[in-house]
Amino acid sequence: MAKADFYSVLGVSKAASADELKRAYRKLAMQYHPDRNPGDKAAEAKFKELNEAYDVLKDDQKRAAYDRFGHAAFEQGGGPGGFDMGGMGGAGLGDIFDQMFGDFMGRGRQRGPRSGADIRADVEIDLQEAFAGAKRTIRVQTRVACEACNGTGSENKERGSDVCSTCGGHGRIRAQQGFFLVERTCATCGGSGRVIRNPCRICRGAGTVGRERSLQISIPAGLEDGMRIRLAGEGEAGGPGAVPGDLYVHVGIRPHPLFQRDGAHIHCRVPLRMTQAALGGEVDVPTIDGSVVKVKVAPGVQTGDQQRLRAKGFSVLNSAARGDMFIHLQVETPQHLTRRQRELLEQFDAEGAKNTKHNPQSEGFFAKVREFFEGEKG
Ligand SMILES: [Zn+2]
Ligand SMILES: [Zn+2]
Repeated sequence: MAKADFYSVLGVSKAASADELKRAYRKLAMQYHPDRNPGDKAAEAKFKELNEAYDVLKDDQKRAAYDRFGHAAFEQGGGPGGFDMGGMGGAGLGDIFDQMFGDFMGRGRQRGPRSGADIRADVEIDLQEAFAGAKRTIRVQTRVACEACNGTGSENKERGSDVCSTCGGHGRIRAQQGFFLVERTCATCGGSGRVIRNPCRICRGAGTVGRERSLQISIPAGLEDGMRIRLAGEGEAGGPGAVPGDLYVHVGIRPHPLFQRDGAHIHCRVPLRMTQAALGGEVDVPTIDGSVVKVKVAPGVQTGDQQRLRAKGFSVLNSAARGDMFIHLQVETPQHLTRRQRELLEQFDAEGAKNTKHNPQSEGFFAKVREFFEGEKG
């Protein structure tokens, strides 16, 4: 049986563009795919024919040869050059699906050695350390370059390797999954496309060995709870020719008994004795940098009154600036009075009865109460 013309197999003209070819092929390949036509021998034959035709026409060089010599260009022993038709069948479809789904599947067309894995470490610091910055030594379980082979994976440190026979050096393998061809990293060579000829006895060709590493890390001032620090290249070694992964240090900040942080600002509750609140004065307030500041309190302050201390807050990340500190005053009612305190307070209270201005808030309150009841009667 004479072979059908490749252009008519795909239903396109001899002048068809690469795009037209691709579209025609895609449409027909979907239609005649064996998964959609189970047991249909005719569809299967048509599908093979489509792949054969597209495999030639999608390649400029092969297409030119076909245009000149017809099928003879690709027959055994015939035609000039003897084109390699090794990638027949599914390969054509694979390329199409790569283009259709490559981005969607988020893998692109990566070749060559993989990179080492990223690793994670967790450290906890207290709020003062977050303010001032801190240094920590952390220990991580990781993989480092094998010393015996210098990370080459080869015995005697020669970089002898062969093309991987599983993937033919592509580093990736295509497999049919239902209607789709999926591509994944070759397990034999780990994606590098090459296998070590004479593997190192210590790392068995991996080029890396497991090790606990200890690392000095600097935590910058102003870091917030849950932030992470990336240390490029401090992750796992990736084996022969691969770049190492990164180390991510997740920083947790312990809550502080005195200070609550709000971004670059700090809040602190400061208790005041009832008499301090009434008379006014000075209170000692601790700050995040470890110093104590004297804060003036005006006579008559109330619970909930705030005072702002400029630039006594948190350090701002990557900056010399500081946030503010807010002091929230809290007036304390005295408890467990001594007999003398009680006497004095009773005298104080009696004196207060003569002073109609002594408590503007409660005076205002009682005035409103009077108005309320008089309003009801009227
Ligand atoms: Zn391979
Ligand atoms: Zn080794």
